[in-house]
Amino acid sequence: MTKGWTIQDLIDKRIKLHAFCHNSRCHHNQLLDMQKLKDKLGADAPAMADDLIPKLRCAKCGGKHVGLTYSPDTRPTGDLRSAYERAKGG
Ligand SMILES: [Zn+2]
Repeated sequence: MTKGWTIQDLIDKRIKLHAFCHNSRCHHNQLLDMQKLKDKLGADAPAMADDLIPKLRCAKCGGKHVGLTYSPDTRPTGDLRSAYERAKGG
């Protein structure tokens, strides 16, 4: 039975967390620094949206109406390099 991801899980899975502000006059959004979150909350802290959103605040307007998107980094390492090698003909 899974209890959801922890901060460390997100780092291990290289999932990017994007926070955005629902304030219609603000719409600030930023990529969260996972290392900073880990320092602040601890590696084992639950990191599902329901866990994190209450702890977040818009850095721009200070609003608490913040949303989160999770984007897996699916790009395989070395992909760019092999594409470069192919382009070079090697
Ligand atoms: Zn805001």
